[in-house]
Amino acid sequence: MRVLTAMMKHETNSFSPVPTDMARFEAWALHRGAEAIAAYRGTNMPAASYFDLAEAHGAEIVCPLLAEAMPSGLVHRDVYEQFCDWILEPVRAGTVDAAFLDLHGAMTAEHVEDGEGELVRRMREIAPDLPICVTLDMHTNTTGMLIDNADAIIGYKTYPHVDMGDVARQIGQVLWDRIEGRADPVMAWGQAPIIAQTLRMGTADEPMRALQQATRDEEAKGMLAATVLGGFPQVDVPHHGVTVITVADGDRAAAEAARDRLLAQVWEAREELIYRHRDPDAALRQAKKAPAPAILLDHADNVGSGGTSDVMTVIERVLEAGLEDVAMATVCDPQAARAMHEVGTGAELTLDLGGCTDMPAIGLSGRPLRLTGRVATVTDGRWTVRGPMYTGVAVDTGPTAVFETGGMKIVVTSLHHEPWDAGILSNNGIDPARCRYILLKSRIHYRAGFQPVQPDLSAHFTLDGEGVTTSDNAVLQYRKVRRPIYPLDPAQSIPFPS
Ligand SMILES: [Zn+2]
Repeated sequence: MRVLTAMMKHETNSFSPVPTDMARFEAWALHRGAEAIAAYRGTNMPAASYFDLAEAHGAEIVCPLLAEAMPSGLVHRDVYEQFCDWILEPVRAGTVDAAFLDLHGAMTAEHVEDGEGELVRRMREIAPDLPICVTLDMHTNTTGMLIDNADAIIGYKTYPHVDMGDVARQIGQVLWDRIEGRADPVMAWGQAPIIAQTLRMGTADEPMRALQQATRDEEAKGMLAATVLGGFPQVDVPHHGVTVITVADGDRAAAEAARDRLLAQVWEAREELIYRHRDPDAALRQAKKAPAPAILLDHADNVGSGGTSDVMTVIERVLEAGLEDVAMATVCDPQAARAMHEVGTGAELTLDLGGCTDMPAIGLSGRPLRLTGRVATVTDGRWTVRGPMYTGVAVDTGPTAVFETGGMKIVVTSLHHEPWDAGILSNNGIDPARCRYILLKSRIHYRAGFQPVQPDLSAHFTLDGEGVTTSDNAVLQYRKVRRPIYPLDPAQSIPFPS
């Protein structure tokens, strides 16, 4: 047996001005062949689980591509086509017997709206009988093309995504059982017409906690896999919705019944899937009374959803509010990082920090913040994740420095990085447990690394700011989204469940 293992992941934010070219993938993950296997073996990533399964079955691994970029704008046409060519090459050559894929589910290229669906459609066209399984991110928007062309699909059940390796082991085993004649996976899928917000998808919170528990209950009752995908809101495509996918063993009616139960529960939860805005000043007043460290979230400028990580609005507000002993991660500003590296630790300087990027899609211009302070730390930005998300993966934030100003220590990076692991502070000379406040440009993923530092979620506060990952639908100009859809249209006007 020879088995194809490939990763092609990007969460595309069509409002983001950050270009998604080959360099964007090289900055986070672009590996091929033996080097790819070496880079991911032993990590908590789907590819590592697929490798383990292949080896347990005595199969040879063919790994043409493991690629992921931090979320950003539409994937450039040439990059998408190159990735498809690399992945499909061994399929075209007829040298593989099965495909184990780690895809995101919200990839949109300049010329292809459903990036994952189109890849798997092409694969199926070349090899009509090839067994194909797929893992998906919880933030998937799908046209269904992917489901029509694969044999078994599963999505992450956790957000932060700490179960990537686990779900790959589960669905990979289903595909091996099919290959060896022990299972006959059949899938059903459907979508509830909701643009849900990722801020409301944390699996420590309702309604996602109960929805993911319901998928586990369906699996306990016999589904080979059951999945609820919340979707990704910051993209302008027709196929938004909260997607349910069920995989039964040979019994299509059972798959459809489980799907319908899950979809009904999703639709029931629709109001809870929408973020309610809160007054940032009120949130800051509450934070001052919360136990240390209180965690503050600049969620509208979150790299992990396509943010530029250089919007200074919330940082300015926190400085003005006079909060002391604040650790902040991260501002991406290569020029400022370079300036700090040049003067070195301990030096004082005045910087025009952040505001490097204009965001025409939301009518926002880059506005740096002039700050005077001192360089607390300089590092090369390289470290390995020890926390539960992306465990074992190497991080590179480029030349990095900590700028201390007015009660705040700001981690300034040269490459985009969402602070989902406490390593972003500890590897830059800041002990997160000793801070009074931790201000993060993140939404939910920060919980992987920082909930252990502050387990009490009532001491975590969202601060509404500006940026292309805003949860304010009035700021995002949706033109292609299918209608009617909740909450852009009232629920009463939507014929669902039909
Ligand atoms: Zn995700």
